[in-house]
Amino acid sequence: MKTLIKNGKVVTPQNSFFADLLLEDGKITAVEANLPEEGCQVYDASGCLLFPGFIDAHTHLDMDNGVTVTADNFYTGTRAAIAGGTTCLLDFATQDKGDTLQNALKVWHKKADGNSSCDYGFHMAITDWNSRTQAEIGEMVKAGVTSFKFYLAYDALRVTDGELYQALKRIGEVHGIAGVHCENGDLVNELIRENREQGNLSPKYHPLSRPDYVEAEAIARFCYIAEAANVPIHIVHLSTAAGLEEAKRARARGQKVYIESCPQYFTLDDHLYNLPGFEGAKYVCSPPLRSVQDQQALWNALGKGQIDSISTDHCSFCQKGQKELGLEDFSKIPNGMPGIEHRPVMMYTYGVAQGRMTENQMAGLLSENAARLFGMYPQKGTIAVGSDGDIVVWDPKAHWTISAKEMEQRVDYTPYEGVQVIGRPKAVFLRGKQVVEDGKVILEGQGTYIHRKESEYF
Ligand SMILES: [Zn+2]
Repeated sequence: MKTLIKNGKVVTPQNSFFADLLLEDGKITAVEANLPEEGCQVYDASGCLLFPGFIDAHTHLDMDNGVTVTADNFYTGTRAAIAGGTTCLLDFATQDKGDTLQNALKVWHKKADGNSSCDYGFHMAITDWNSRTQAEIGEMVKAGVTSFKFYLAYDALRVTDGELYQALKRIGEVHGIAGVHCENGDLVNELIRENREQGNLSPKYHPLSRPDYVEAEAIARFCYIAEAANVPIHIVHLSTAAGLEEAKRARARGQKVYIESCPQYFTLDDHLYNLPGFEGAKYVCSPPLRSVQDQQALWNALGKGQIDSISTDHCSFCQKGQKELGLEDFSKIPNGMPGIEHRPVMMYTYGVAQGRMTENQMAGLLSENAARLFGMYPQKGTIAVGSDGDIVVWDPKAHWTISAKEMEQRVDYTPYEGVQVIGRPKAVFLRGKQVVEDGKVILEGQGTYIHRKESEYF
């Protein structure tokens, strides 16, 4: 079946232009003005922007944190993704200590295969670096997994500096890319312990146990370890001005450092932890929400092109029954917030509509840059002949209000409740098939696994 999307304005990181798009057998087969309608199903995109399908390169679906499992699994999480305009996501398959990477990959395929409404791939989170793990890196690349993740915080997950150094060298040999969760785990543990000893147990002590220098120190350390290993690196969920400065210093030394941040660090701030009762628990994530000054620094960096991608770190836990595990002790609140559904509209509203970034920057930050860094370009991340027919028909004039009552995310709140937003996916096409109409999922379960190539260090 052929689909023709007519009268829209194509948006790529390089430029915007009016053209019709022909989608055939899952691919884009023509990008030209005035394409003929014969034999095509026609979608009129008048007044709309046509973005390349958005990519969320940082999600945690169906993830067991050791105490409880995230509220969203692949079925609900990918429906939420596609409803918001995200046509491809990269989730973190996570190795259990003592287990293999192959097994972690098998487990994640089982969670995702046949349950997904958008395309997906996996980063491999390595928690146990040893000779067997090292030998498995090549097998991961063959299986289409070319990006890896390491933690410098969380005792159950983190690796030592020496292990990270060895791993970076090995990953560099296969032209993969490693992303790191940058917080100083020992320092975080000490600050949590001190707060608990002093009886500081409410959610507001969560950010006070993870101050900005905890992130900045870990980013600086990660950058120097990468300098020793001589490889490009990726900093996930950057949240602070202090951390940004460390990354910029490494870049000034000539290192390739890619930076990801998330909508919550641009649009929410740390006063939310002081809300009455247990409300602050909804915003407990790591790194935590930051000060208004940090937000300002991130917007400034984004405007200057110093941030490469915006993903969500979607990791949803219900306030009732899950976040409540930490009612008596903030350190037991499951870390994470939902966001997979609202990333495009939040960045459009606060970024494009408010003049902080252009629509073209949005196409780069939410789609093309992640496709390139994670070995999916030009199959994903652009609107060009030969690319997948993943198109978001974006109505820039839609005004609506975010509400947990009317979302796909299967969690009992959204941190963006009541936010009046601008823009909406009027339609979403996934490999040529229309899967969303007026923000509603009309066709589910169409997602497939994306076998990725080596990273393109741009
Ligand atoms: Zn994460």
